[in-house]
Amino acid sequence: MTPAPRFAYVTLVTNADYALGATALANSLRRTGTEAAIVILHTGGVGAASLAPLESLGCRLIEVEHLPLSDAFNERHARGSLHAAAPFTKGRKPAFHSPLDNFCKLRLWQLVEYERCVFIDADAIVLKNIDKLFDYPEFSAAPNVYESLADFRRMNSGVFVARPSEETFRRMLELLDQPGIFWRRTDQTFLETFFPDWHGLPVYYNMLQYVWFTMPALWDWKSISILHYQYEKPWEKDHPKATRLQPLIDLWHSFHTGGPVPEIASLANPDEAG
Ligand code: UDP
Ligand code: MN
Repeated sequence: MTPAPRFAYVTLVTNADYALGATALANSLRRTGTEAAIVILHTGGVGAASLAPLESLGCRLIEVEHLPLSDAFNERHARGSLHAAAPFTKGRKPAFHSPLDNFCKLRLWQLVEYERCVFIDADAIVLKNIDKLFDYPEFSAAPNVYESLADFRRMNSGVFVARPSEETFRRMLELLDQPGIFWRRTDQTFLETFFPDWHGLPVYYNMLQYVWFTMPALWDWKSISILHYQYEKPWEKDHPKATRLQPLIDLWHSFHTGGPVPEIASLANPDEAG
């Protein structure tokens, strides 16, 4: 009998749209040859038909509840109130994105059967083996770079390395919901506050899609480990940035269908694409 894996890649899926994303992610992880578990945290909002492809890929599906948060907290972080209080000016969140759902990521700390977990947003794909991240300390994450150099000061919570612990989870819940508190970028702002001395991963562990057109000099296919489709999703039909991002959207679809995938290192970088 093979021993139960000590390491897991973990993602979160709260509706059918993100299940599409997770399917491409799981396909991409399988292609890296990893032996770590692939865990899908899902809430009651996802139908069996949406989860079936993930099951076929051998993912471990774990149903989770939303966090026990106060009504006031939930109202402040509901989509309408959050978008009004802290509008998104750089890109557009799809209608199926519910900011409150992001906080379910914290359930990862309850997966204490694993020594280390690498969380990856469901809107990302893994382009090469990243198992060495399981040797990295808690809390490791990459910078939130998609517009300018100043972005290197901030963290993006789409990819991170964590050590599950009920004690950490308990402390998180204590800090999370306090009277009047507002986490403007939800789990991301919270995790940045909870782990103020976060370890920086290279930007290529969480390459945000906008870099393709905002900072093309930074793009380097052979260096990119994880490609993350922040804001507009590659499975949205004709989104406002679809024309500019077409090569990245095509790549996502090749992972989603599970068919042949191009040789990544030989893809054209944006400055070469003409
Ligand atoms: N997510 C989800 N349902 C939601 C919102 C978020 O399942 O309604 C999960 C999903 O894994 C997603 C992640 O939380 O990838 C963060 O949201 P998203 O990736 O849309 O945010 P962005 O990367 O655009 O900031
Ligand atoms: Mn994301």
